[in-house]
Amino acid sequence: MLNKKIAELINDQVNKEFYSAYLYLDFANFCDDEGLDGFANWYEVQAQEERDHAMMFRNYLKDNGVKVTLEAIAKPDKKLTKVMDALQAGLEHERYVTSLINNIYHEAFAEKDYKTMQFLDWFIKEQLEEEKNADDLIKKMNTFGSDARGLYLLNQELAARVYTAPSTNK
Ligand code: MG
Repeated sequence: MLNKKIAELINDQVNKEFYSAYLYLDFANFCDDEGLDGFANWYEVQAQEERDHAMMFRNYLKDNGVKVTLEAIAKPDKKLTKVMDALQAGLEHERYVTSLINNIYHEAFAEKDYKTMQFLDWFIKEQLEEEKNADDLIKKMNTFGSDARGLYLLNQELAARVYTAPSTNK
């Protein structure tokens, strides 16, 4: 049994995570168009992870006997004219997602819903990683991406990112 408000927030989060996947796929498309296939790969992997997050929230609702309502996924709306726009929009987006998860945690705490707090612990740690990864990308781009050779090598590094299913043992 879940409190109605918490169930609604988690149902919203299913949609937000699918939107995140959509947003990162949009970034991947942009990077591909720019000839940066390694950056595109990095965002494709990111999009897969976001779909996993959506499924984890969806499964949590199902495990608690809550009916899941899938809403329309918003169109990615970030204006991208250079790759740095995607990197910065990614960091901004992850900070927003952290605020959403913190808000659900806050409600769970207020309701003494320890089960949901424990479920959210994984996402609290995940958001630390997501923000760090997004910030690291910006730093690397600032340090190495300003000349063609550096950008080429950074693109190669990002091409090596491989998708792995999320471990729930954080
Ligand atoms: Mg996520």
